Amino acid sequence: MEITFTPQENAFRQEVRKFARQEVTDELLHKTGGLTETHDETFYRTLAEAGYIGLQWPKEYGGQGRSHMEFVIFLEEMAYALAPLGRYGGSVIFVGESIHAYGTDWQRQHFLPGIARGEITGSLCMTEPDAGSDAAALSTRAEERDGDFYLSGQKVFISGAETSSYGMVIARTAPQTAKKSEGISIFLVDLKSPGIKILPLQTIAGWKVNHLFFDQVKVAANMLVGKKNEGWKHLVKETLNFERSGVARMGVAARLCDDLFAHIRVAQQAGEEISQSLLHQLAELKTDIESWRLMSYRIAWLQSRGEMAGPQASMVKLSSSEGLLRLADLGMDIIGHLGRVQSGTRSLAGRLEWMYRAVQFHITAGGTAEIQRNVIARLALGLPRSL
Ligand SMILES: Cc1cc2nc3c(=O)[nH]c(=O)nc-3n(C[C@H](O)[C@H](O)[C@H](O)COP(=O)(O)OP(=O)(O)OC[C@H]3O[C@@H](n4cnc5c(N)ncnc54)[C@H](O)[C@@H]3O)c2cc1C
Repeated sequence: MEITFTPQENAFRQEVRKFARQEVTDELLHKTGGLTETHDETFYRTLAEAGYIGLQWPKEYGGQGRSHMEFVIFLEEMAYALAPLGRYGGSVIFVGESIHAYGTDWQRQHFLPGIARGEITGSLCMTEPDAGSDAAALSTRAEERDGDFYLSGQKVFISGAETSSYGMVIARTAPQTAKKSEGISIFLVDLKSPGIKILPLQTIAGWKVNHLFFDQVKVAANMLVGKKNEGWKHLVKETLNFERSGVARMGVAARLCDDLFAHIRVAQQAGEEISQSLLHQLAELKTDIESWRLMSYRIAWLQSRGEMAGPQASMVKLSSSEGLLRLADLGMDIIGHLGRVQSGTRSLAGRLEWMYRAVQFHITAGGTAEIQRNVIARLALGLPRSL
């Protein structure tokens, strides 16, 4: 068995790496603190001009017709460079990919080129105050009247909604039955529509999430994405499966680990002593990162064949998000008091402090550590479902 990339994929990696070296400048990192979840408007436009937004879509929809593996390579390299991709996930991975996979031709033609140009942005609006881990328990309703839908309810923790043009809102189109996942549909909603109130919430990591209130918001029928009442199947099979390789998290971890090794080399040359126990912990995390990398590539490969990642995605999510937490914690011990400084530069000082708070996001978003353990227990070990 050989795990390898094609010459085209390797060439693309070099291209993206060169782009990152040129565009992810010290000045940009100073602005964003090196946090990949932040958004920078100028950088987003640069990404659009380079053709990297929706690069995996066909050329007729504004993409480059690149493969899924090339898309994964792009995400990995951008994460390693600490590029601010905050708006990218909601717009491309959630809204754009969903339209591409199960939207109508009109939706593809109307939305994808605009997303690729960076002009249309989007957010996934799924979580509710009483439906987080148990997302299918959602109660936001979409009532069909005179050929339109009317949305009422609440969504919370919605990343990017304060500036996104569209929300991909998951709502109930049929009364809840014993099987919660039935009767759910997906809508594209213009977030400037009358009846929507958006309340930004500042996170401890420094970027915003939002609480959204919908009061009889009119949504035209052509904004239903996928089949009515079958939204849950679309979400699980396509939307949430698309980027579950965890490759971005692994890119950030690899960068942090390399930066810590570089810091140690400089410190040792300056005659400083770093405890052997800290070095051993870092070496162990380096080993973990290599195993996450292989798992991430395997998941991406399964996805490129149209297969579901299954328990592997939960395994890599659990292991790498908890590992990133350990890495940030260890980094604090290695760089000492500098770790507590808020400067936000290419150096570790400032970045680590921010990372330390931001890793909480990796543990929770996309399914908490407990939920990943439940999924692994159910899918990999065959234990009974707990939700
Ligand atoms: C920074 C940030 C950004 C986010 N961005 C988005 C976004 O853009 N769009 C969106 O829709 N959502 C978003 N979310 C929401 C995120 O997906 C939810 O926070 C997550 O699914 C957990 O839901 P909850 O916070 O309601 O916690 P709860 O589900 O209430 O869980 C609370 C605790 O109970 C545990 N728990 C719950 N059920 C079980 C169980 N069956 N077994 C064991 N333990 C359990 C959980 O692990 C957790 O520790 C974001 C969240 C954060 C923090």
